[in-house]
Amino acid sequence: MIVIKDLVKTYRTEEVETTALNSLSLEVQKGEFVSIMGASGCGKSTLLNIIGLLDAPNSGSYQFDGEEVAKYTEKERSGLRKANIGFVFQNFNLIDELNVYENVELPLIYNKVPSKERKERVKLILERIGIAHRAKHFPLQLSGGQQQRVAVARALVTNPKLILADEPTGNLDSKSGNEVMELLTELHQSGATIIMVTHSSYDAQFSSRVVTLKDGEIISEHSNENKMDIL
Ligand code: ADP
Ligand code: ADP
Repeated sequence: MIVIKDLVKTYRTEEVETTALNSLSLEVQKGEFVSIMGASGCGKSTLLNIIGLLDAPNSGSYQFDGEEVAKYTEKERSGLRKANIGFVFQNFNLIDELNVYENVELPLIYNKVPSKERKERVKLILERIGIAHRAKHFPLQLSGGQQQRVAVARALVTNPKLILADEPTGNLDSKSGNEVMELLTELHQSGATIIMVTHSSYDAQFSSRVVTLKDGEIISEHSNENKMDIL
């Protein structure tokens, strides 16, 4: 699904140039659930943003589902991103003025899905995520765990090839965090490809492989053979 080779990303501010990714190579197969860990500033967000086609590298190769995308323009990336990638963020990123149903419907509107089909797909996904009874609620009327479930529903409604999660439990208490991790585990078991950035080695245990970065490079990798399915 993802083949990254010798990826370099630098940021230039007035005086200094920071190397965020230092010739990083990584492959992720379809159906994997990969955690990306490492200290603050090691390049996790930069990597996730490039994988998610939000940003482009300075050099190196990135093949997304067989397509070389490293040199894509913003417009090309945006088209591919909307059709193929679902995002889950630490702070949920829901729109407070829209209710649950409308938040989840939004990516389908962006993807120009006809209204009848939108209705069916939103309904189905809200039921699958167990949040259908909150369809008319607004985000601020929900607990953090519920809001993150809505965010997961929004990420899934377009049937993306890849789900990216950036610290998905970072703003949740441990019970809600566990529920979100169980939800991601369920999606993984049903075939989803997931890449998650996390500080939590507890959460990383839910994934099938853990990749650790330091100073923009991968310093270790291990697969979770005794993966926790249900806690
Ligand atoms: P992490 O997500 O692991 O905390 P980041 O990918 O955010 O790491 O950052 C990697 C490095 O790149 C850090 O040194 C950070 O300060 C720097 N960096 C990230 N974004 C920018 C930016 N927009 N401008 C300048 N430097 C940046
Ligand atoms: P559930 O039992 O579905 O897991 P919770 O126990 O998190 O839900 O919340 C119980 C009820 O309180 C829900 O109807 C939820 O919408 C509401 N609720 C939770 N947090 C808040 C909040 N900060 N403001 C308003 N209502 C909230």
